[in-house]
Amino acid sequence: MLETMTPPIPASTSVLIVGAGPVGLALAGDLGSRGATCLLVEQSDGTIVQPKMDMVGVRTMEFCRRWGLTDAVRDAPYPRDFRQDCVWGTSITGYEFGRERFAARGDEQPAPGSPQKRERVPQDMFDPILFDFARRQPSVTIRHLCRLVAFEEQAEKVLATVEDVTTGEAQVVEAAYLVGCDGGASTVRTRLGITLSGNPALTYTTNIIFRSPVLKTLHDKGQFYRFIAFDERGMWGTIVAIDGRDSYRVSIVGNDQPRRYSQREVRDAIRKIVGVDFAFEIVSIMPWIRRLLVADSYGTARAFIAGDAAHMFSPTGGFGMNTGIQDAVDIAWKLAAVIEGWGGRHLLKSYEIERRPVGIRNITEAGGNLGRMVMPKADPLVFVAGPQGDAARAEFGRRYTNAMRREWFSTGIHLGYRYEHSPIVVPDGTPEPPDDPAIYVATSQPGHRAPHVWLAADGRSTLDLFGCGFVLMRLGDDAPEAAAFVSAAAACKVPVTVFESSQPDLVHAYEKPLVLVRPDGHVAWRGDAFPPDLYDLVDTVRGDKAPGNVPRPEVGFGQRGVFLAAHGKGGV
Ligand SMILES: Cc1cc2nc3c(=O)[nH]c(=O)nc-3n(C[C@H](O)[C@H](O)[C@H](O)COP(=O)(O)OP(=O)(O)OC[C@H]3O[C@@H](n4cnc5c(N)ncnc54)[C@H](O)[C@@H]3O)c2cc1C
Repeated sequence: MLETMTPPIPASTSVLIVGAGPVGLALAGDLGSRGATCLLVEQSDGTIVQPKMDMVGVRTMEFCRRWGLTDAVRDAPYPRDFRQDCVWGTSITGYEFGRERFAARGDEQPAPGSPQKRERVPQDMFDPILFDFARRQPSVTIRHLCRLVAFEEQAEKVLATVEDVTTGEAQVVEAAYLVGCDGGASTVRTRLGITLSGNPALTYTTNIIFRSPVLKTLHDKGQFYRFIAFDERGMWGTIVAIDGRDSYRVSIVGNDQPRRYSQREVRDAIRKIVGVDFAFEIVSIMPWIRRLLVADSYGTARAFIAGDAAHMFSPTGGFGMNTGIQDAVDIAWKLAAVIEGWGGRHLLKSYEIERRPVGIRNITEAGGNLGRMVMPKADPLVFVAGPQGDAARAEFGRRYTNAMRREWFSTGIHLGYRYEHSPIVVPDGTPEPPDDPAIYVATSQPGHRAPHVWLAADGRSTLDLFGCGFVLMRLGDDAPEAAAFVSAAAACKVPVTVFESSQPDLVHAYEKPLVLVRPDGHVAWRGDAFPPDLYDLVDTVRGDKAPGNVPRPEVGFGQRGVFLAAHGKGGV
């Protein structure tokens, strides 16, 4: 539960952010850390009725590192010694088909190529951390119980009508920019008339949170984060250790046919996945529709969408919020740059060009993960006692474990996204490393996340250098002088600092003697020498040159009904 904030609503602001879910909170915090004035309005009182996300990915943790939040994440109350295994079988007191072993979050090691590791921190623990971050920024105003109802975009500003949810009183707020972080049913997206592509209803799923202190004493599966349950018709549900203590979330996965469950059916589903009758208390029941959708546009000149407003994921893989926070990080420095006056005339156009392809990429992967989770039908023998059943269970478990590894090991998805066709990135013609969901290939290639290397001088990560303005990495003993470039940047008011080092592993990892890193930690340009026209380079990376013909990726996954046609079942 977040503290409900009801300060007076200011008449004007630089950025009006709609929605204080994790994406809106991250955007407000990042903008605030850059000194930009913003108003964050949230229609609810901050209560989290049912925590959705619980996996904070490694890239999001790198942002948390930049924002000074890693201690708060470490100290979040999800137990640090609770093993995170994923297990599959008939029920948690029944047969086990297979398992992927994962360490407790206190024991997990940083991902290769990162100073951080992913964290298990459910939304009711993570949102308050982002909320505190946003609230601490002097230029940020957070206003709960305040709903955006309408807005009008003009050449120089956005006029937004917001309504006090308690009194019904409406007020107009003048903002230079508006960002809708207002979730899947986004008012901002709807009022902008932005359509969505993809699959609007993969499954009608029901999530049930229940509490049971005795449950952990009833089974022999040890500690696990997630258990995937099969019956004779196939995979039907999951149970997740939502707080690592006594609260659990059961998902009845369902199919593409709408379905509502009675209290009795919900109770039956809980008993079925546990495999015995036992004492439990239902905390909440949330039916929801699993969608795979990406917005056809991420906004206009002054009004944008980010997070679930722009893309709706199947949670398989844990990409939804993490992708949304990347959106927030991408648009935050660009908005701050145009507000400060050094962002170029076309800088904000690069937001959609950079982020929409990543939305499509990640949603496609999440859809594939769902397919791998629900598709296989187990050999009927897996439900039979005895040696034949044991053999069938071992064989099915092995196959399923192999298939599911793609979902569990996804460092490439989290760290390997790149801004290949961005007009504010200068390509250098070198071949792109493969975009493998499991494997992250560290590279300083323009458009990629700048690599992490520990700095021998002070023990920091190279990632700790990035975040404010641009950073020019001048590496090796023979790196060209940077003074003329710094002067050109200063003439355009572009903030640049120069970092110099001859540390061998750093020189090696960054591949070139000159690497220019943007405020979001992605590489804008690299080279052996500066180009002759330094102003042209500065104007490119600050977005002052009109984008040419940028390839526009299309959403390539199925239409309604196609995806689960073979699955064709649901319920318990
Ligand atoms: C079961 C489940 C598990 C998941 N697990 C993961 C995971 O492990 N990792 C992960 O990355 N993602 C996960 N996700 C997805 C993740 O929860 C979402 O992607 C994330 O919550 C989106 O954040 P958001 O801030 O964009 O939107 P939301 O969280 O939906 O927040 C939008 C906010 O906007 C407010 N709002 C809406 N309209 C208005 C208005 N007109 N005026 C004012 N306020 C408004 C809403 O009240 C809401 O608070 C999961 C999702 C589900 C369903």
